[in-house]
Amino acid sequence: MSRPEVRLSSSIFRANIQAVRDRVAPSALMLVVKDDAYAHGLSWAVDAAIEAGVEWFGSYDIRTGLSVRRLAGGDARIFAWATSTETEIDDALMQRLDLGVGTIEYLGRIIARAEALGAAARVHLKIDTGLHRNGILPEDWASAVRQARRAEQAGLLELEGVWSHIAEASDEDDDIAHAAFRDAVRIVGESGAVPGALHLTASAASWWRPELRGTVSRIGAFCYGIRSADGPELEGVHPAASLVATVSAVEDDRVTIELGSFDGLPSTLSGSLVGTPDGPRTLVSVGPTSSIVEGWPGAEVGAEVVVFGAGAHGEKSATTLAERIDTVGEEILTRLTPRVRRVVAD
Ligand SMILES: *Cc1c(COP(=O)(O)O)cnc(C)c1O
Repeated sequence: MSRPEVRLSSSIFRANIQAVRDRVAPSALMLVVKDDAYAHGLSWAVDAAIEAGVEWFGSYDIRTGLSVRRLAGGDARIFAWATSTETEIDDALMQRLDLGVGTIEYLGRIIARAEALGAAARVHLKIDTGLHRNGILPEDWASAVRQARRAEQAGLLELEGVWSHIAEASDEDDDIAHAAFRDAVRIVGESGAVPGALHLTASAASWWRPELRGTVSRIGAFCYGIRSADGPELEGVHPAASLVATVSAVEDDRVTIELGSFDGLPSTLSGSLVGTPDGPRTLVSVGPTSSIVEGWPGAEVGAEVVVFGAGAHGEKSATTLAERIDTVGEEILTRLTPRVRRVVAD
């Protein structure tokens, strides 16, 4: 029985990276690789990114950051922003990861580990610009900066960056966040520090709002070719992943494909369109291990149906499917289970 596959295109991924870099330059791309590179698979994605010249990686957690260090080598800059345990902090310091720091408590723990190990921590301080999800409050900012600067003078810390995260849901809220971010950067400047990495924006704001970009842009989704829900198409950016299922039975006007909810295909997707050798057809129903697609002339066992991605039968993104069930493209990919084989090609 032919199992479904996620086909991953290294060349499309690299072309997306190039398109994103061209778009955001002179801001530097930080490729976000959390959630196993948005379910594309970390190891080939880092290899391809290095080949494409990516210098900054955003790993979310330290464990993933250490994997990126092994794959990418000593020169890559790797930003890990999850608040972590002492053991993980020690590993991060030894492997020269850049740490995102959103609380004074975490800053204190990092400085303590740097002192214990005799190593300087690379720190990016995070200002809360309104999301209230981990970030130093504006009223605590000056004291956090003083603490970081004291540690810097003691050789325990390098203040490499200032950052925050914005919702990218309304221009107005993002503008308010940007103003708070600029205030935080100004206070750091007044302390005499000149951090090189200032970063606020993810995919959507980096692409559409150049005035909000810092010296670095943290981008995941668009590099994988996942556009925003309800967002327009992106020039030069295409899905790097395709989900392909094989026809296992043909009966009258009903074609069975080997892909179902046990593979992570949401059953709420029935009614959406999938790509067949004869053009788009309706996905009639989703069963546990197989699903029914509306037939086409000459349908035969072994034919391939493209559920999403850049296939021979026209491009349809995970986001298009996601919009149908009111979620985001990343969700469609990260829900696919290990039953779905990942196959990487150039
Ligand atoms: C996931 C994430 C990003 C990347 O977001 P995309 O919209 O996928 O580009 C950037 N920054 C932070 C803090 C994130 O968690």
